[in-house]
Amino acid sequence: MHILENYVAGQWRAGQGQPARLHDPVTGAVLAGASSAGLDLPAAFAWARQQGGAALRAMSYAQRAALLARVAEVLTAHRDKYFEIALANSGTVQADSAIDIDGALYTVGYYAKQGSRLAEDAWRMDGPADALARDNAYAVQHVRTPARGLALLINAFNFPSWGLWEKAAPALLSGVPIVVKPATSTAWLAHEMVRDVIQAGILPPGALSLVCGGSAGLLDALRPLDLLSFTGSADTAAQLRAHPALLRGEVSLNAETDSVNSAVLGPDAAEGGPAFDALVREVVREMRAKSGQKCTAIRRILVPAERYDAVAGAISAQLARITVGNPRHDSVKMGALVSRAQFDNVQSGLAALRGAAEVLYDGAGLPLVDADPAVAACMAPTLLGARQPQALLHQTEVFGPVATLMPYRDTAQAWAMARLGEGSLVASLYSDDSDFLAQGAQALAESHGRVHLVSPEAAKSHTGHGNVMPQSLHGGPGRAGGGQELGGLRALDFYHRRSAVQGAPARLESLPTARAAAFAE
Ligand code: NAP
Repeated sequence: MHILENYVAGQWRAGQGQPARLHDPVTGAVLAGASSAGLDLPAAFAWARQQGGAALRAMSYAQRAALLARVAEVLTAHRDKYFEIALANSGTVQADSAIDIDGALYTVGYYAKQGSRLAEDAWRMDGPADALARDNAYAVQHVRTPARGLALLINAFNFPSWGLWEKAAPALLSGVPIVVKPATSTAWLAHEMVRDVIQAGILPPGALSLVCGGSAGLLDALRPLDLLSFTGSADTAAQLRAHPALLRGEVSLNAETDSVNSAVLGPDAAEGGPAFDALVREVVREMRAKSGQKCTAIRRILVPAERYDAVAGAISAQLARITVGNPRHDSVKMGALVSRAQFDNVQSGLAALRGAAEVLYDGAGLPLVDADPAVAACMAPTLLGARQPQALLHQTEVFGPVATLMPYRDTAQAWAMARLGEGSLVASLYSDDSDFLAQGAQALAESHGRVHLVSPEAAKSHTGHGNVMPQSLHGGPGRAGGGQELGGLRALDFYHRRSAVQGAPARLESLPTARAAAFAE
């Protein structure tokens, strides 16, 4: 069995004991094994903090941005290999693998470019200085200083590549060493990428470490002022929050968790019109892409009551054209869920939703292409509908190709229904009415990390309900975890500490040029 080793304290090390197995979710074949048992994590973390932290902090943002540019080059050079691994281990068709792999390359490249504009600074001024004294002889300058701890980056199974690099790029650009922990079931791709970057010798020793396999002991190895950035389920996030280091506030947490996202059709949208068609297209794309295994996928479709039947018919007609099965075939448009365990999870979640909804479209009867239904984690899309939706439908994230159609009476009810998700990553609005779009943005911004407006003139160029662009904030309040990532250089905030420096104005003027060497020890 191909064993995925851990990269700790500058060395590749296999874990002890029986490794967890990684499978091909279509054929069931065992692809690799991973174990982190027996690693000396406290020593590995100390080494990362001391070696990696000092080396990264000795550089300017622009120098670290140049490292990211070289990381992007190395990853790009191995792109084809990554697609092969994603096909085997995630069971995704080419277009879905691209969301993960090309999304990562784009994000690393984006931060390389943004960082290069930060010039030779070693820390960041936060706004202009403010006077503190009547005679203007004393003032305060707020500053953001790179954190001196390490960042532990724990990722979910659905984005082994993008999930790693959308966290890693802002952390490394900030000058913070990282320990990466991919979800075990799809860790192969993350492992391969880290291996390629380490072999290329781009990053200073200690800047990048990797722990594959189980998570035991990871949080215990964190020290006060370390950072933890987590993506995964709300249940796991709750467990992390209960760890003593987090309870005592010694370690800062950024959590990205579940989300029951919605798409809202405007009252002006006529059947077959551009806004109507844009919503139908987007819902189908979100249900198909990665078999619905995107935290941002549309789970609820809110439409004016008089459009309920027309929308149900239009979405169902397009879902019926999706071929499901082995992603190695060109005719297949939707591959597998990530594992048979995840298949069982989705089936039980769907059964719960079905108890509270009618089935508008069920592709389960159609044959899979070149995949054994008793083995493969392949699942056809299901569209549910509820004319009087219960709370369960607003609050249950089924992490697969499942969405529920719901009618609304008026826009006030539409906003109220969207908010029943109790904090979501994204809501999208489809309309040609500027008032509706503006009102919706205002009504939903507070409970959503991102509001995505689709009007006819943007029908072709909008970036997609579920696509997370590094320019835009990613994260949401409440159920979505309360975290914030990306959003351009805002992503660096989590990896910096903000403080106030008070002094005579002339002295404060020399702060921006403080040498990086001051941060290195
Ligand atoms: P998960 O079971 O919560 O696992 C997430 C990660 O946490 C994995 O790396 C897992 O490692 C690790 N982990 C589990 N228990 C841990 C513990 N006690 N201490 C430290 N680490 C621990 O989530 P998942 O099943 O991989 O992912 C699906 C979920 O992620 C969905 O709910 C989805 O909505 C959410 N998600 C959210 C976003 C977002 O940005 N908001 C993005 C993607 C996915 P092992 O794999 O080794 O168990």
